[in-house]
Amino acid sequence: MPKVELHVHLEGSILPETLLLLAKKNNVTLPAKSIEEIRKWYRFSSFDHFVEVYFAICSCLRAPEDFELIVFEFLKNQARQNIKYSEVIFTPFTHVKRVSFDEQLAAINKAREKAEKEYGVTMGLVPDLARNMRPVEESLKVVDWAIKNMGNGIIGFGLGGPETGNPPELFAETFARAKNANLPALPHAGETEGADSVWGAIKTLSAKRIGHGVRCLEDPGLVKFLRENQIPLDVSVTSNVCLGVADSIENHPLPELLSEGLFVTINSDDPPMFNTTLTEEYLKIAKTFDFGKETIKQLALNGVKASLLPGEEKLKLTSLFEKEFAELGKELLGRN
Ligand SMILES: [Zn+2]
Repeated sequence: MPKVELHVHLEGSILPETLLLLAKKNNVTLPAKSIEEIRKWYRFSSFDHFVEVYFAICSCLRAPEDFELIVFEFLKNQARQNIKYSEVIFTPFTHVKRVSFDEQLAAINKAREKAEKEYGVTMGLVPDLARNMRPVEESLKVVDWAIKNMGNGIIGFGLGGPETGNPPELFAETFARAKNANLPALPHAGETEGADSVWGAIKTLSAKRIGHGVRCLEDPGLVKFLRENQIPLDVSVTSNVCLGVADSIENHPLPELLSEGLFVTINSDDPPMFNTTLTEEYLKIAKTFDFGKETIKQLALNGVKASLLPGEEKLKLTSLFEKEFAELGKELLGRN
């Protein structure tokens, strides 16, 4: 089925075999030396543990061509899953000592153009901040650079990393600059922290969408606000289970979010790190929650609607989705 993906991290999408290759090329010693060992290494005991592994992955990116490689592979993989368009988060500050902001962006755009030609899929870029970065003032450099490159592939500005102890309010000034420049805010919130963090993302950062946001359910007033304003939540079910936000898929609050009338999209977050793909996310939720094809189609269309694409692009994509879903319907009937 046709899909878009709005919440997926570039560094978290590196395939295990590519990671091993990059580590070897750049003389980085990882605690895992085979695909099997990587799988084991990707069993996370806590969010902090996850962040630790994430930084180790980032340390394998040392040259512009490393970025080209992972972006090209990423888009190839998205195309294989019939994901027409992706909004891709990456954390430029994490790499800046090894590859400058401009070099990162040039390499990413080069691979993007190549993959667009070859596979016909597109993406927008969302640089984000690790919220535990200090001094916080350094984040102003990142946002100023992002604003300068808004016509150069950058479409939004994010906030990720450990939510506990790093509330959205720390980055008020940074996100005020983004808002002034009409660069949409796409912070993570309500993942390992509760409703206060989501309120902060909305009130202080002017969030256009919330990354995860599943813990909004702890505050009925917040649920009402999110419903009335139809602020989209980028939901990633397997990620939430792997990082202990939900104790199992069966107990994930997705059905409750939907029955509350919230605007939900489905995402894979860091697919190989959680041993999943966007296709598998849709399959898992359909099976676990017994969602019919109308619900699944609606969730896929929500992705188009919640994207940052211009209006006419959304219309084009929506009619393409309608056409492909209708064809899938015929195919299913033909099988009966
Ligand atoms: Zn994320």
